[in-house]
Amino acid sequence: MTTVAPNRASETDTSFRSSEIRIRAGMPICQTDLPLDWYQEEFKVYAEEYLALRDRTPETVLPWMDRYIQPALDHFGDSLLLLAHYYMGGEIVKLVERYGGTIADSYVLALQAVRNPQSKTIVESAVHFMAESIAILAHPDQAVYITNPKAGCTMEMLAKEWMVEPLFDELRDRFGDDLLVVTYMNTSGRLKALSGLTGGATCTSSNARIIVDWALKQGKKVLFLPDEHLGDNVAGQLGIGPQGVYRLPGGQSAMHFRVDALSSNERDQLDGAQMLLFGSYCGVHMVFRPEHVEYWRALGYRVLVHPECRREVVEAADGAGSTAYLWREMLGTPSGGKLAIATEGHFVRNAKEQAAMRGVEVVNLADVPGADGSFGCGCATMSRNDPPHLVALLDLLRRGNAPAINRVLPGDNVDERTGWRERLDASSRSEIARLARLALEKMIELTESAGG
Ligand code: SF4
Repeated sequence: MTTVAPNRASETDTSFRSSEIRIRAGMPICQTDLPLDWYQEEFKVYAEEYLALRDRTPETVLPWMDRYIQPALDHFGDSLLLLAHYYMGGEIVKLVERYGGTIADSYVLALQAVRNPQSKTIVESAVHFMAESIAILAHPDQAVYITNPKAGCTMEMLAKEWMVEPLFDELRDRFGDDLLVVTYMNTSGRLKALSGLTGGATCTSSNARIIVDWALKQGKKVLFLPDEHLGDNVAGQLGIGPQGVYRLPGGQSAMHFRVDALSSNERDQLDGAQMLLFGSYCGVHMVFRPEHVEYWRALGYRVLVHPECRREVVEAADGAGSTAYLWREMLGTPSGGKLAIATEGHFVRNAKEQAAMRGVEVVNLADVPGADGSFGCGCATMSRNDPPHLVALLDLLRRGNAPAINRVLPGDNVDERTGWRERLDASSRSEIARLARLALEKMIELTESAGG
């Protein structure tokens, strides 16, 4: 049983019922075409039709999509739920909403199965960890699908179970039950299960401070997985100084971490730290620098950043928060306002488009003219979901032929290059789901009681 109260809206989710992004005649509804060989075999026939369309305007693309999607909507009715994340390209955000779907941040996405028990088929256009979190919390009669199984998160790819487990075992041997794992949402179910195993919780960028504060108040040492920068920013918010934070390796280097290979000074630091930060990161958020903040602020822009940015960027900014926070701030800026936003490029492009309709100017914080090598970029892995992926999956679901590779189950280990997934046997899967669900439910309980 989940602890979620279905009709109780938290502070986090109230602002994300609709993106308010509109489709207008003649606009370029789809920005980039993927090459045909990037589609899985079953989807190629749909991709060929799409790539042969004469242009990417709504007038051309929508009739083609309607031909497949409308029969699927009629077939499934209320039992179909379409979801997408705000970091998706503008086209998927617009299209998913057009077909009655919901756009949200990762916290709200995770709650969707549990809040919509009538939805038996859930189709997500975003990355794997988001779909898996929905699947972990889903009721047994709900099935979760992802439109592109190759859509992964590079931060999560630097914290695969086989990279993290040896390090976790070392730390658990040293600290025993004093070690509590807080997993950022951007992790596999297998890592979330480590939180459940140690009595910890999952967190998102909107509630990380609440979760870590709760963990520290129990007198525990927090292993924060996997984003070093979000963990560092939370440490700063909680007034934890440099001695209270220990930086661990990330990626494959983490597998070689050995406590007995540390110097005595390093061991003392490890033993004395309140937070142990795993060394993964999001490349998209690493491009932002304090000088970008100075540049745009000098031109009268208010600077808003995501807490996956480095601490010096967050501390220099006027505000920092999750995608929900950034979107809400943009919608709340009066006409004539100017915002420089540091987060994923598609989000900023969507915000720019939406803000322009309200007389507000939005720029990408990294787009500083003449700056050496700086540019704001999109999440390339998330953008692997596009209109043909949505069309193909919905049509194949209606026909009863959805490929097994698009089904998402708790504990799946995905190879993001091929889309192949290693699937656990039923009993291992059920144990991973149980532990990961404990971590997600603890997050929901703490978040709802703090701000709901
Ligand atoms: S923007 Fe970064 S953290 Fe978010 S899904 Fe993409 S790679 Fe992962």
